[in-house]
Amino acid sequence: MKHLNVLTIFLTWLCIISCQHTPSPMNAAPEYAIAIHGGAGAIKKENMTAEMDAAYRAALDTALMLGEQVLRDGGSALDAVCASIEWMEDSPLFNAGRGAVFTYEGRNEHDASIMEGSEQKAGAVGGVHTIHHPIRLARAVMEQSPHVLLTGSGAEQFALEQGIDTIDPGYFYTERRWESLQKFKEKSQKTGWNVQENPDYKYGTVGCVALDKNGNLAAGTSTGGMTGKRWNRIGDSPIIGAGTYADNTTCAVSCTGHGEYFIRYAVAHDLSARMKYQNITLEAAAEQLVLRDLVEKGGEGGLIALDKMGNISCPFNSAGMYRAWARPGEKHIAIYKGE
Ligand code: ASP
Repeated sequence: MKHLNVLTIFLTWLCIISCQHTPSPMNAAPEYAIAIHGGAGAIKKENMTAEMDAAYRAALDTALMLGEQVLRDGGSALDAVCASIEWMEDSPLFNAGRGAVFTYEGRNEHDASIMEGSEQKAGAVGGVHTIHHPIRLARAVMEQSPHVLLTGSGAEQFALEQGIDTIDPGYFYTERRWESLQKFKEKSQKTGWNVQENPDYKYGTVGCVALDKNGNLAAGTSTGGMTGKRWNRIGDSPIIGAGTYADNTTCAVSCTGHGEYFIRYAVAHDLSARMKYQNITLEAAAEQLVLRDLVEKGGEGGLIALDKMGNISCPFNSAGMYRAWARPGEKHIAIYKGE
């Protein structure tokens, strides 16, 4: 009897673990597919009000719908990625664009990147603070410059030359993020916490991966980074191969989590490499990487990934991850484990 109970608990646990991020595998490529995330971290149901829960789900729904609309109308994966991300950048709910977290000095510094899977062109910006839509600037770097990554004032100068919208940095101020910074500073002064050790850390980066009707994949990521970051710290989000990657022969991926780990273990590229060199499925590769190897290394976070067959995987090893995905006739929105 006791054994039976243990078995039941184990099977339930297995079901929760495997149901949490596994849309059914595809036999034939769908017309299009899209997945988005709004960050992973200490996101627990018991700490959320019903209003916040509903607000996040509605926001994910809108962002997903905007990207899906582009794909349904025959637009490119790149356009879909930008449509979803730009909307999330304008939402104060997410740690990107408008809702970006504050640096230790009380500024908002944004990082973003984008990559397409056919020729593997990519663009990224780091540490910009006057760009209305950092993802748009990342795309301009990819399409209008000979470079991949521009940072700080140089990136902002490039934005001006390209006619990319700039905005007064005051636009990025939100009360909620300002309070988080004050709380962080107070605690870090008392306990010596640094950015890495903040146990309350709720990541809020946004990302999108898409597959269009031409079979092209694209991925993008945009973030304000980590509350209390200093010294012009740049995370994984604008680092191609760490926070973002796309290759039509493997997958498109956007990560969220503790950026330093994602950079050190080149997580986004590692997912693609596992598929390519081990010849394993997207789901197997993503689970090995996020639920086993990153956990062993102490790297908290998750990712969304999509392959050319429209398979989607959204594993995370933190308490929760804001996420949503759609294929023709299918849609899923989730925040916590087991959804
Ligand atoms: N990965 C981001 C960074 O380290 C943070 C996040 O995903 O929320 O900057």
